[in-house]
Parts: sequence; C-alpha cells; structure tokens
Amino acid sequence: MASSSQNFIQLAKSLPAPLQRFFARWPPAAIVPEGAAPTQYQEARPNPFAAYKNPTTGKWQDPVYSLRRQAQLVQLAREHGVAHLLPETKKGVEYRLAHRVEHGLRVKGTGVGQSVKGHIHERQMISKMEKRRKAMLEMPQLIRAWKTRLGGSPFQLMEASNSSELASHYQVLNLTPAILDTQHDPSALIKKAYHRALLQNHPDKASSAPRGTSSSPSTYTIDQITRAFTVLSSPQQRAAYDTSLRLQTTGDESGAPGSLATKFQTGVENVDLDDLEFDETGERWYRSCRCGNDRGYLFGEADLVEVGDEGELMVGCSDCSLWLNVHFAIIEDDDFESKRNL
Ligand SMILES: [Zn+2]
Repeated sequence: MASSSQNFIQLAKSLPAPLQRFFARWPPAAIVPEGAAPTQYQEARPNPFAAYKNPTTGKWQDPVYSLRRQAQLVQLAREHGVAHLLPETKKGVEYRLAHRVEHGLRVKGTGVGQSVKGHIHERQMISKMEKRRKAMLEMPQLIRAWKTRLGGSPFQLMEASNSSELASHYQVLNLTPAILDTQHDPSALIKKAYHRALLQNHPDKASSAPRGTSSSPSTYTIDQITRAFTVLSSPQQRAAYDTSLRLQTTGDESGAPGSLATKFQTGVENVDLDDLEFDETGERWYRSCRCGNDRGYLFGEADLVEVGDEGELMVGCSDCSLWLNVHFAIIEDDDFESKRNL
C-alpha cells in the first residue's frame, strides 16, 4: 500500500479537475492525517455516492452523484489509477472486483482505461467498430439502391422473402455473411444459430406463441434448417452458395432473397460485458431484448471462456432473430492479483 502524504499531494495535482474537486470535498481516509476534521461536504453527506437519510427530517435523499455521474467519475479515476480512493459505488472497480472474487469469475469487460487497454482484443475491437461505423454510413445508400432497383423497402422485402420457401440459408439461421465474417472461426456461431433455429421453429413453439413483431421468425422446416446448417458450415459450400446469391441479386429483379436482403436481415448490437446484468443465483449474465424478452440474451462464464481468445461472444436472443455481441477480456493472473492487493 502506498506511502507518504507528499506523494498524494503530487498525485492529486496531476489529476483532472473533476477528480481534484471531488477529493477536496470528500478527501479519502487514506490521505487525510489522523484526527483531521471532516469537510463541510463530508459533514452534510458522508458518502456522496449513497442515498442518505436526513437525521432531522427522516427523509431519504438521492445520492449527491447520480449513478451516471458516479460512473463518469469512476471511469476518470480508473484512467488515473485512483479508483480505489473513491467511495464505494456499485459502478466502481472495487464492487466489480469483489463481485468477481466472490463468484470466482475469470472474465471482465474490456474496460477502456483499465489495464486491459491496448490488449489485442481491444485493438481489434476498435478496428471492427470502425468497419461497422462505415457500414452504417453506407447503409442509406444501399437502401436507396435497393429501393430503386426493386421498388420496395428492404425491410418489407425481407418480410416477404422471410415467409416464403425462397428464404436463403442465411435467413433460415438468422445470420448474415457479415456476421459470419466477424468470427475468426464461424463454426461455433453457426452451430448456435442452428440450435436456436431448431428451437424457434419447433412445431409446438411456432404454433402456440403469438408472434406479431417484425422480428418474429417464420416457420422453417427441419429440412430447411439442416440444409442451411450443412451449407454454411462448410467453407467450400458456403463460398459457392454466396456466389449463387450474388448472381441471383444481379440477374433477377423480382426480389429474390439475395445478398443485399440478407445484409439487412439481422441486427447485431455490441455491448461490453460490464454493461450487462448479472444473476447472482444462476451465475449468468443477461440482458433484455428489443423483442420484449427480459432475459432474451443469457449466458454463463463457460460460454465466455470458450471464446476467450476472441474476446467477443455472439449471443442469440432465445425469442427472436437478434444477436448480441459481447466484448470482454479474460483476467490474466498477475492482473487479477495486483488488483486484489490494491
Ligand atoms: Zn429478442
């Protein structure tokens, strides 16, 4: 544990203004001399990150810092290596770390500003994000091209082709070429998509569940699903299939499910592991999905460790066609130890 108050003063001077201000008002116990009087801020609110019961009125008051501002402050403190001097916060490193130690978890978010920064996964993530941003920018153009060529919005056409027997292998599995291309080895993802398609198109489920949303899958046969799985799983077959799709799109004006259609079909949202909820009892992470399922996305540590080298886990919603791409890092031993000994 660190040292003299001189060092702390030097450290404090190097901090950005919001942190300096914060520590001036709520000096951490570690840096104030024994027996020093509390500041007026501390007298009024001992912990500005916590709700406070006014001793006179007996009423509860919100924390001085909202959770959002706490998160900003923690982020800033992390970048300057002083997160441990902040009061305990649910958003804080300490909380997350305690949480991980308690559950023995070996994974964490990519935590920009943490020691994982500059890690290979994160660098890859930045370039991938950049690619996605570009794709988004080009999207209006693609949609316009699609509209003029085929006389309808890609989304309407998606719907139309979705329900037909003409659905592409990608549509059957709710995948796109682009999603598969984000994977170092797409076979695990294809298998997941295959299992999800089997579950969602199971005769019992498909007939009973009321499905009115645009993302609702239509019913595909087991044969269609199996065929899609077989073709997309084989790099050679998939390449040949992609070529045939491209030919269809350029040669056929009728709105056949071509590669353009598949581009729009499936949404992928990118999130950091630390932004997900964690179910303490089930020891699983979860997140609500736009389709209305509170825990549409659900996975455990084993799922993350399995793709630890990638630093990304693709999770499919159990109820609809959407995917969630979770960015994370595996905690390295020395990293884990040094944080624990702070
Ligand atoms: Zn969903």
